Amino acid sequence: MARIVMKFGGTSMAGIERIRNVAQRVKREVDAGNEVAVVVSAMAGETDRLVGFCREASPLHDLAEYDAVVASGEQVTSGLLAIALQTIGVPARSWLGWQLPIRTSSAHSTARIRDIEAGPLVESMASGTVAVIPGFQGLTDENRVTTLGRGGSDTSAVAVAAAVKADRCDIYTDVDGVYTTDPRIVPRARKLAKVTYEEMLELASVGAKVLQTRSVELAMKEKVRVQVLSSFNDLPGTFVVDEDEVVEQELITGIAYNRNEAKITIVQVADRPGVVAAIFGPLAEANVNVDMIVQNIAHDTGRTDVTFTVPRTELARSLDVLDKAREAIGYQKILSDDNVAKISVVGVGMRSHAGVAQTMFKALADRGINIQAITTSEIKVSVLIAEEYTELAVRVLHTAYGLDAAA
Ligand code: ASP
Ligand code: MG
Repeated sequence: MARIVMKFGGTSMAGIERIRNVAQRVKREVDAGNEVAVVVSAMAGETDRLVGFCREASPLHDLAEYDAVVASGEQVTSGLLAIALQTIGVPARSWLGWQLPIRTSSAHSTARIRDIEAGPLVESMASGTVAVIPGFQGLTDENRVTTLGRGGSDTSAVAVAAAVKADRCDIYTDVDGVYTTDPRIVPRARKLAKVTYEEMLELASVGAKVLQTRSVELAMKEKVRVQVLSSFNDLPGTFVVDEDEVVEQELITGIAYNRNEAKITIVQVADRPGVVAAIFGPLAEANVNVDMIVQNIAHDTGRTDVTFTVPRTELARSLDVLDKAREAIGYQKILSDDNVAKISVVGVGMRSHAGVAQTMFKALADRGINIQAITTSEIKVSVLIAEEYTELAVRVLHTAYGLDAAA
């Protein structure tokens, strides 16, 4: 017997037929003798619809009321799933965020979970009643309804799993796991049986958008074993686990790409203390999230270039900020390019291996792909290249690191 939290996303909850299918999956776990809590998303498209109403009512709406509106999508699906379970003979009841309660910060529309009262939940589960919990919602200390930010049901599920000390948190979604890379680019990409929390974070932040990033951070902190699997087939999924659990470590776990960045080069800044702060200070104040940063050392001239990337949608705003700070920074000119892509190879195995980056550089060089910037972390090497080479680079690297599935 195990204690399991099952989470179903919007596609799995879209309509009564699919909710019945979800109920069957829950029943299977109950019949196997497990204690089960289920966390659900709103029906696919529903949250967008509710957000649209708020915008239509007023472009500058009160976020506390926005939360009251958009949290309703999950209230509907949790009640419907409880009904569907009862109909097939599985005792079940819904526990809304305010009923547990799930306490959050008061940052409406992007609240963070602080605490979940697990007592009644555990009691209910132990007595054989499935607890159905709407994801995405919580309650402030002032008893106002909050939501956790888009995609937040994943985080709800992991938080519930941590609170009830679940053996597993199964996240059912419309993909059947985490792959070595995007199978649309590399048909021979393989599904990973296991991936570590850290790798998952790197893969998620560079575009493998299976789980909300915050849910992975929370799982890592609380050591919740997460499984990503499909609600539309019965294949085993991918486990997201602690590094200790991964016995035979591949050198590279996956290849990710990101086309949402743009490159800025500040030409001829003085190489002296304070200059970099003068560049990134105003950008930070403008809430621009800077990613890769490369700075050269000045030689005779005492001047050098600084290159970095920002989200593509923030490029115009960043250039504006830098233009206004021209006096304070002191540069000759600014160059920018949004025709770039970031390609990353990720794997905890590279901690203990030399030559990982070199394999990447060589493979790209052999195809004539120029590298414009490089950053590394303990478990990741990223390069910036021209966007038109994205697919080619991903394919070449997938092969170079031996990740292709046997034909
Ligand atoms: N329904 C919310 C959203 O669409 C939360 C979730 O599904 O995770 O963002
Ligand atoms: Mg989601």
